[in-house]
Amino acid sequence: MPDATNKIRIALAPGDGIGTEIMQACLDIFKATEVMDHVDFVPVEMGKSVFTKGDSRGMTDDAIDTLESCGLIYKGPMETPTGGGGKSINVTLRKTFGAFANLRHFQSLPGVETVYSRAGVPVDFYVVRENIEDTYGGIEHRLTADVVECKRLISAPGCDQVHKFAFRTAESFGIETVHCGHKANIMKMSDGLFLDRFYHTGRDYPGIECKDVIIDALCMNLVLRPNDYRMVVLPNLQGDIVSDLAAGLVGGLGFAPSANIGENVSIFEAVHGTAPDIAGQNKANPTSLLLSGLIMLRHIGLKRCAALIENSLLYTLESGVHTGDVKGEKDPVGTREFAAAIAQNLGKDPSGREARPVPESQAPTFTPPNRPRENRLMRTFETSTNRIAGCDIYIDTLLAPSELANKLSAICTGTPFKLTMMSNRGTQVWPSGSVYTEVVDYYRVRFELRDETQAGHIGQLPTVWLLEKVAEKFVITDFQPLKNYDGRPGYSLAQGQ
Ligand code: NAD
Repeated sequence: MPDATNKIRIALAPGDGIGTEIMQACLDIFKATEVMDHVDFVPVEMGKSVFTKGDSRGMTDDAIDTLESCGLIYKGPMETPTGGGGKSINVTLRKTFGAFANLRHFQSLPGVETVYSRAGVPVDFYVVRENIEDTYGGIEHRLTADVVECKRLISAPGCDQVHKFAFRTAESFGIETVHCGHKANIMKMSDGLFLDRFYHTGRDYPGIECKDVIIDALCMNLVLRPNDYRMVVLPNLQGDIVSDLAAGLVGGLGFAPSANIGENVSIFEAVHGTAPDIAGQNKANPTSLLLSGLIMLRHIGLKRCAALIENSLLYTLESGVHTGDVKGEKDPVGTREFAAAIAQNLGKDPSGREARPVPESQAPTFTPPNRPRENRLMRTFETSTNRIAGCDIYIDTLLAPSELANKLSAICTGTPFKLTMMSNRGTQVWPSGSVYTEVVDYYRVRFELRDETQAGHIGQLPTVWLLEKVAEKFVITDFQPLKNYDGRPGYSLAQGQ
């Protein structure tokens, strides 16, 4: 519900360094339109001042309460404490409040010179990046003296959330084709799931054409022909890298707005940092934060205000008014003067490119979240059944493959399992392989059910008993039961298997 004055409440955290100046500039521009008739900004304390008080979360309890009740936050850049202590508040916010989709818009801006602007090639596309999963779970272990691992988690519900968001957004922006970027040719299960769920979710959006592209080809194509894409949806790490590549196409991070959208809480922020070198000098460029604010205005239904401001920003840049970080023929102006020019130019359209259509009217559409009692369990494959088919045991050893295989085969005699495969760094080294495959102190050894035992005829306990027998002779680093899901193996083959 909007507040007692019938306005939508948005938590406001100006941030550190240049944050206060660029946030004030954006609010001044909003005030020149009808935004404040529909929105109440509620200040919250986050960032450096909270870290300095010793709170490693970087946000106060009041700020968390306000954010949870508003469901929206508009934030400036925040300093990440260096050395021990607090983690990046930006990542903490996205993960804690489930802002699962990162939406970034990359468009050529007038007056911002790039290789493409000089070639007369306008750039205008969106990247939707999954924000929570992948290697960003930060689950890392040192397994042996020489090997560390980072677990990459991809969940079906997580994929469904981000794909649905991408298709819904494409629909509302009038985008006809959405691409899924992936590496499913190599990571057949994890990226394969991301890709499968993309096409599966896409069936609910018949007006949108679904296509996919392998991530390395995507990077090359974006540089060669950025206009081949209108929206690309990607897993977290790949999305992170492609987002910065895309920012480079339009002049750098300072011109790339970012929105982190969740089921309950959404975060709209500048992508650049706090720019301590120019803080307090009226030199900072508010464009990135302003463009993020425009995604926020569209998110809450204020499409008329968003279009008016965007057209005015483009007109202002086109007329040569710019801050010092942008190369231009005219002398740069300060942050306040730049904002004042945008406020003054409201109603004017850029001439060098198509103006955003300005709707006659607008209706705020945002409903704040209802606080759930418990964390919500998300499910996709609710009826899936699984059966034990064996186990992979990971061993820290310096033995050569043949000697290791002899010892392990002896250990599993008399159990329901036989040794079927050993790999090192993912490459099969037994029963076949090449002596040219160099090995390290970390083996995966695979035990599968003997021919006479059917998958499903044993539970998981025999795999644990086997683990105990192996642990009597070897140093164990990891253990993974092998399961068939609905009759299909839920595990990958080794390279060369
Ligand atoms: P930075 O983005 O703050 O600065 C890099 C360079 O870009 C500097 O020369 C700066 O003057 C310039 N710059 C950045 N934004 C500008 C703007 N709006 N207008 C004009 N010039 C601009 O990166 P950094 O120096 O690596 O980081 C400084 C601090 O910001 C660090 O504490 C870092 O952790 C934090 N940071 C925060 C965010 C965020 O809140 N989203 C993102 C990145 C960095």
